[in-house]
Amino acid sequence: MNTENQDQDESESFKFFGLGGCNEVGRSCHIIEYKNKVIMLDAGVHPALTGHSSFPFYDEYDLSKVDILLISHFHLDHAASLPYVMQHTTFKGRVFMTHATKAIYRWLLQDFVRVTSIGAGSRAEGSDETSTNLYTDDDIISSFDRIETIDYHSTMEIDGIRFTAYHAGHVLGACMYFVEIGGLKVLFTGDYSREENRHLHAAEVPPTRPDILITESTFGTGTLEPKADLEKRLVQNIHATLTKGGRVLMPVFSLGNAQELLLILDEYWEKNEDLQNISVFFASKLARKCMAVYQTYTSIMNDNIRLSSRIGQKSSPFDFKYIKSIKDLGKFSDMGPSVVVASPGMLQAGVSRQLLEKWAPDPKNLVVMTGYSVEGTMAKDLLNEPHTIKSAVNPDITIPRRINVSEISFAAHVDFQQNSEFIEKVAPSKIILVHGDSVPMGRLKSALLSKYSARKGTEQEVKVFNPKNCEPLKIPIKGLRVAARVLGTLAEEQLHLLKAEIENKVAESNLKIEELDDEENEKMEIGQPKEEGKEDDSKVKEGEDTKTENEDPDAFKTGQLMSGVLVSMDFDLDLLQLQDLHEYTQLSTSIVKSKMSLKINADITLMKWHLEQMFGFINIVNDDEDEWECIIMDMIDLLVDRSKTDSLYITLEWINDNLMSDSMADSVIAILYSIDSSPASVKLSSRSHNHNHDNIEKESTPPTKKSAHANSEISSRIHRISSLLKAQFGDSLNNLEDNKAVITIGKNEAKINYLDLTVDCGSRVLRDRIENIIKRGCGLAAPLSQYQEVYKI
Ligand SMILES: [Zn+2]
Ligand SMILES: [Zn+2]
Repeated sequence: MNTENQDQDESESFKFFGLGGCNEVGRSCHIIEYKNKVIMLDAGVHPALTGHSSFPFYDEYDLSKVDILLISHFHLDHAASLPYVMQHTTFKGRVFMTHATKAIYRWLLQDFVRVTSIGAGSRAEGSDETSTNLYTDDDIISSFDRIETIDYHSTMEIDGIRFTAYHAGHVLGACMYFVEIGGLKVLFTGDYSREENRHLHAAEVPPTRPDILITESTFGTGTLEPKADLEKRLVQNIHATLTKGGRVLMPVFSLGNAQELLLILDEYWEKNEDLQNISVFFASKLARKCMAVYQTYTSIMNDNIRLSSRIGQKSSPFDFKYIKSIKDLGKFSDMGPSVVVASPGMLQAGVSRQLLEKWAPDPKNLVVMTGYSVEGTMAKDLLNEPHTIKSAVNPDITIPRRINVSEISFAAHVDFQQNSEFIEKVAPSKIILVHGDSVPMGRLKSALLSKYSARKGTEQEVKVFNPKNCEPLKIPIKGLRVAARVLGTLAEEQLHLLKAEIENKVAESNLKIEELDDEENEKMEIGQPKEEGKEDDSKVKEGEDTKTENEDPDAFKTGQLMSGVLVSMDFDLDLLQLQDLHEYTQLSTSIVKSKMSLKINADITLMKWHLEQMFGFINIVNDDEDEWECIIMDMIDLLVDRSKTDSLYITLEWINDNLMSDSMADSVIAILYSIDSSPASVKLSSRSHNHNHDNIEKESTPPTKKSAHANSEISSRIHRISSLLKAQFGDSLNNLEDNKAVITIGKNEAKINYLDLTVDCGSRVLRDRIENIIKRGCGLAAPLSQYQEVYKI
């Protein structure tokens, strides 16, 4: 492969670089690169690790290159290293998250700083020096205001990067990001759930198909129990434990699952009077703050919640009747059966760990793991039902474990069926798996590959990648279709057209519109941008036709084709008419003119006759002693110098604005040269003809007797025009007798006379369109040889 190709491949490749969360659950952080734009997805920590090692591999990437950092949700494995990135690295990009995520993130991180070794002054046992200063409360506060927010379903556009947030389910504020860079579409799911629960929307399928999907694979090929079964199992387990005098511990992450579990418990207590004297505690430093946040954001929750807050039985669905929030175990009197929903979820330290150690020896007790247990944490260890557990405060002390351990996972992640169905709906051709341990992720990859095995080697082939951390992945991107905005006069014209269409109620018709107006088919040379800076990036792609694409795939139905100048700036493609270029882009234009001089042996009358045969009406703009000048098809300026009498000294000038004018000029030149050699010309030149006809058909009456060839020329032209119209209007065109035709579109009817080439139509838009097509059909499509044949009799 030569260098040039390599360079091209480089710029056309999509690059993925996982700094964390690849083949693991924890410290999610992925870099995506395309066309020199860099986006970072999430900035988490690994819950099972401490200090620097809990962070993604930030040293492995030049963070100063990152343009935008998108945070999917507030969970620590997705957001907890953000203050470090913003305050202590070379990162200088912009950061986005949803409003709810931002509201919760702050409290969570302040709590996180307090309870882990990440914050200053709480050095963990055996941790190295640097881990005490990774970031502080001040870092959280000073970076907080620089975090920008995005609403669900709103799209931000920054330096050519466009991204939209969609509901991801999972936890309050969680979103998927649909990212578009230079036409490449990437969907990052973050953690997501396709099941609606008591308070959250299920993840949405974005309306547009992405090219690349970056999806979580937490449960791999596993199957989740139906929600109703889970709930039943949970409340039954709890009820049984309490009845026999036991205590129930439910370690939870302060937010997310916790609120869902509390909703379930409160509802169950309401229905079971025998439980109503048993207390349920929500023990978290953040309990009250979290509840306040949840009460604030009921508007983005699902109908279950929105409805119940409107009905007003309770001031808020999170105003629980049977649940008491406590900050810590200070006021907790452990006198008998109770249920404690406590953070942290991984049982690494804090209230949940304290209670576990206290309750572990009693076989009447129950600990229910309700979330995803990360590898290397106490939560995960406990699932193996060890005989003893270590004390968090003093690892030398071991505690017997007789407490019952049950896993009833309410982790709001997708299982195989849900993930696979979602992938099918989203229909990407490339899938990158993240957020999953190697084994389940590997199984998911195999399962997806076998599901799509029939497409292997075809254009619909689905590729699945499961890169490791810091293992660069490069995906070549080819044949991307790019959407363009239509601006200025062109947009107005389209609007006009649309109005006409609506007026005529032809929305359902399959009208195909091809813009044939010569002037719109612009091609030009662009001068230097007048202003330095941003505009320097601008490029004009000459003569490109672009199919406009709408976010909504249904909008393709009309299949409109438009022509104009395609201006590319920061990957935004704008389709404009030449005259609007300066207004919209501040680019200036210059016009390239072609000029050609030639000498032929003929007179003006003969030349005029020949040209009229070819092009119909010739617009004579000057006819005086010194000069004779005409304009052919509004494109070619033909000037005859009359001061020279030995021959016709002709100068042709035309603007190279499109292929049509060039080929038209070629035709004119060919005709002019052919006059010299044409036997018909010789005959004609001996006569003095003064044609003064109004239209092509009359003009085509040759000065000599009308020949069979001339007739065939007429019918070939009719055939040509008719085929062009057919191509444009399909079955809406009906050819009638007497060289007439009618085009019916909705209420509009256009009558066409192939002989005099007139169009009778009430709709200006439709008439202009038909006339343009006829104009093209008359002149250019005809092969020159045909004319030579006619006149070489
Ligand atoms: Zn999560
Ligand atoms: Zn996660």
